Amino acid sequence: MNERELLMIPGPVEFDPEVLRALGAKTVSHVAPEFIATFGRALKRLREVCLAPSAQPFVVAGSGTLAMEMAVANLVEPGERALVVNTGYFSDRMAMMLERYGAEVVQVRAAPGEAPEVGAVEAALAEGRFKVLTVTHVDTSTGVLAPVEALVRAAGKHGVLSVVDGVCATAGESFHQDAWGADVYLTASQKAVGVPPGLALLTVGPRAMAAWRTRRTPVRSVYADFAEWLPIMEAYEAGRPSYFATPPVNLVCALEVSLGQLLAEGMEARFARHRHMARAFRAGWSALGLKMLPVSASVTANTLSAVYYPDGVDAALLGRVREQGVVLAGGLHPELKARYFRVGHMNVVGPGDVLATVGAVERALAAAGHRTEPGAAVRAAQAVLLASDM
Ligand code: PMP
Repeated sequence: MNERELLMIPGPVEFDPEVLRALGAKTVSHVAPEFIATFGRALKRLREVCLAPSAQPFVVAGSGTLAMEMAVANLVEPGERALVVNTGYFSDRMAMMLERYGAEVVQVRAAPGEAPEVGAVEAALAEGRFKVLTVTHVDTSTGVLAPVEALVRAAGKHGVLSVVDGVCATAGESFHQDAWGADVYLTASQKAVGVPPGLALLTVGPRAMAAWRTRRTPVRSVYADFAEWLPIMEAYEAGRPSYFATPPVNLVCALEVSLGQLLAEGMEARFARHRHMARAFRAGWSALGLKMLPVSASVTANTLSAVYYPDGVDAALLGRVREQGVVLAGGLHPELKARYFRVGHMNVVGPGDVLATVGAVERALAAAGHRTEPGAAVRAAQAVLLASDM
């Protein structure tokens, strides 16, 4: 492994050294007073990061897929209806899970690279009888940013619970859970939250907690059941020891550090930095003559770029970029995956990373025979970085 290699995939991402030191520190007991205090602070901070003062936070060992499954397992009962706003690979996964838990699933789909029209979702909601609406905030397979605020407000208007998959968005894309009325925000540690993989994170609002409390049937999964985790989260926040399943002590310590850093930066400043870096990347891609998969700026994520290979270039480009010291990801959307690559720009991403990555892609493209004016892409990205309108 080359430790100077820059990891620019859509998760896991580059992490702050202080966070990694917390991960590598001596493991303490999960009921030690200092760990209880750390876990309690991490829970409070998660609420602040999601701008969700009224929500119940959950921090559980697992990946983002477990966070999805916890939302589904606790909120949906067999025979209930769920509306999936489908923007790609991870929305498909959500629909599959909902079906597995017995929901009747209706989907509003968009073509790859597009976000569904809010009007089409509202028309589906008006048909009625939905228990939940799910939406992927940023679909990592396409780089599409969904119009989440409008969608969760529409769900709220129809008395439908909204579940937002923020795995590729939380702490990178603007999100105001309480102000927008989103019922569940779920995410994982390894992207803009800034902690190595291994934590499923959820903030569950009061309406969703009430829906869980008034279930007619037991939750089918023991490990995913809020009934097991709620007393544990409440105990840690209240400073009391408690046990259901051993918490990933070091990851929770790392989370507490990372969330502290996020809040010190400030959520609005953090969202603005992600927007600024994304704009610089887009300027770079455009100067390289590369087209992005999202069809318009308004549906383009700020946390990653999904970029088509130019004619005559294929996935072998990624090996050439790696030779230049930067690790990128291939395509993921089943219909298009051989035709594009993905660049994650989350968490500690800064101007140096943008310039290094755009420069590495330019050199790799040149090696693959796709020549552009030397330095033009780096210049275009730099011009955006120098502009003061963050
Ligand atoms: N949802 C989205 C939007 C994702 O990007 C991912 C992971 N890339 C997941 C869910 C699943 O998360 P995990 O891989 O941590 O299980």
